[in-house]
Amino acid sequence: MSDAAKKIMQRINALAKISDEQRQLTRTFASPAMRRANDTVASWMRDAGMTTRADAIGNLIGRYEGTSPNAKTLILGSHLDTVRNAGKFDGPLGVILALACVEELQRTKCRLPFAIEAVGFCDEEGVRYQSTYLGSRVLAGCFEATDLLRKDASGVTMADAIKAFGGAPQKIPSAKLNPKKVLAYVEVHIEQGPVLEEKNLAVGVVTTIAGQSRIKLTFTGKAGHAGTTPMSLRQDALCAAAEFILAVERYGKEMAGLVATVGQIQNTPNASNVIPGEVSISLDVRHQRDAVRRAAVKQFQAVRNDIEKERRVKIASQVIQETDSVPCSLAISNLLQSSALKKQRSAPQLSSGAGHDAAVMAQITPVGMLFVRCKGGVSHHPDESVQTSDVQVALEVMNDFIDSLAKHHG
Ligand SMILES: [Zn+2]
Repeated sequence: MSDAAKKIMQRINALAKISDEQRQLTRTFASPAMRRANDTVASWMRDAGMTTRADAIGNLIGRYEGTSPNAKTLILGSHLDTVRNAGKFDGPLGVILALACVEELQRTKCRLPFAIEAVGFCDEEGVRYQSTYLGSRVLAGCFEATDLLRKDASGVTMADAIKAFGGAPQKIPSAKLNPKKVLAYVEVHIEQGPVLEEKNLAVGVVTTIAGQSRIKLTFTGKAGHAGTTPMSLRQDALCAAAEFILAVERYGKEMAGLVATVGQIQNTPNASNVIPGEVSISLDVRHQRDAVRRAAVKQFQAVRNDIEKERRVKIASQVIQETDSVPCSLAISNLLQSSALKKQRSAPQLSSGAGHDAAVMAQITPVGMLFVRCKGGVSHHPDESVQTSDVQVALEVMNDFIDSLAKHHG
């Protein structure tokens, strides 16, 4: 195993100890743990010959200059925040691996025709303010100022949290990157799925970040006595929801590449001797092709209408979020693919079902993503696991990618 790969693992382990909670890894936006994580990574960046800065919202940025000060910038990175009780690779892997790429350039005394910035985004998971991609939104210039008024669980507004962290909410609009100065954004991330493990490969190239529809449905029937209301006269909201949920699963299984999930349910009054009167559920639908996702949502509406009629319940639906799929840059992906093919027998193209900072960065620059195999596809869980040998492959692929990008660029 290379020393560089071992060093990446040591650093990921060191970061895993920096947590807001005892005995589990939780690092949320602008928290004391985030402060320590940023300080730690910043010192590693400086050791690698980078200059460091924090932007107005608290993204950590390390810069390694190119041959000319006017050169464009290749941005590499991922996020340093985590979910609650997180695994240690989701996010930090991409930041620490970016740092290792720069260390390789420093070791070989190499300057490129472009600068490299390694970014540790301050918030991707959205745990503290239920608003995802805060960090990349700032760099991409699509941060919404109204988000500053959001309050966390202890009533602290986002604006105050940013100030306490050392940021400057009023300067957020000017923290936007100038797209003309950015060459591309490339993110290394764990796959968070089982495909690479199934194929027994270390890395794969992401072609698309799937679009997503999130819908809330409320089934309103009639609550009644469980002992005295005959079956034929019931308007059971939970039975109606159950029928809908199973239809969602059936359709999801039929359509290749579609994932459809009901993950949340609220049953009222939720008592053992009362017929359920009202049920709210969440529906999450994703596919790499927007047309397929939209067709699925339509299909679910038709199912909804049928159930409404047959069961004499009212079903209201509300779209919570709708994001289109984001294609990765073909040019960047092709380069990543040929670099990956030098290290393993094939370089599978993957679609990402999860959202990533790359999806936001795509608004201002071409993006690419390299996925790294993770054990059992498990993520957002302490059992998240990546092999050092796979990290080594990912690092070699990225070093080779940077090298070929420099050749193409020059
Ligand atoms: Zn992530």
